[in-house]
Amino acid sequence: MKEKGLLIVLSGPSGVGKGTVRKEIFSQPDTAFEYSISMTTRQPREGEVDGVDYFFKSRKEFESLIQQDKLLEYAEFVGNYYGTPVDYVKETLESGKDVFLEIEVQGARQVREKFPDGLFIFLVPPSLSELKNRIVTRGTEPEHVINNRMTVAKEEIEMMNLYDYVVENDQVELACDRINSIVVAEHCRRTRV
Ligand code: 5GP
Repeated sequence: MKEKGLLIVLSGPSGVGKGTVRKEIFSQPDTAFEYSISMTTRQPREGEVDGVDYFFKSRKEFESLIQQDKLLEYAEFVGNYYGTPVDYVKETLESGKDVFLEIEVQGARQVREKFPDGLFIFLVPPSLSELKNRIVTRGTEPEHVINNRMTVAKEEIEMMNLYDYVVENDQVELACDRINSIVVAEHCRRTRV
C-alpha cells in the first residue's frame, strides 16, 4: 500500500515572514511538497493572482463553503476570512505527496485537532520590534491595521508551545534550510518496516 503524505503546517505571527519563507521554499526546484492554496475574502494586493496566491472569494461564497464543510480549517483574521480547501489536502495526502500549509495560528490549532500526526512548525521573528519593523516596511497596511496585527502577533507568540518545532526567521535562506531539514528528519523518524 502506498504511504500517505505528510501534512506540514507552517504557522507563526503575521509579518514574521511565513509567506516569504514559503515562496522561497517553493522556488527551489527540488522541493517535493505541494502547496495548498488558501481561500480568502481579503482584497488581492498588487501583483497577486487568483488561483496562484489565493482563491479570492466574496464573504457569501466563503460562508457557503463553510456550510458545505469544504474547509479543513478557517479563521477570521483582521476582518477577513482565510481557509484551507479540504478536498485538495486529503486527495494529495492520499496520493502519497506531502502537503504544505502556510496559515495563521487559529487555523493551525484546528488542523492539529483533525491531523494530530501532522508536522507543526512555528516561525518566530528574532524579536517583536523586528516584527513590527517588517510589517511597517512592507508598507501595504494602514496604521490601525498594523497595530491590530501587532496585538494579534503578541498573543500568537504565546502559542508556540503547541508546535513540534520552533524555527527562527533571522534569514530567509537559513529558515528554509531548517524547515527542509526538519521535514527530511521527520520522514526518517516515521519510516518503519
Ligand atoms: P495575508 O493577508 O498577509 O496574506 O495573510 C494573513 C494571515 O493569514 C497570514 O498569517 C497567513 O499565514 C494566514 N493565512 C493564509 N492562508 C490561510 C488559511 O488558509 N487559513 C488560515 N487560518 N490562515 C491563513
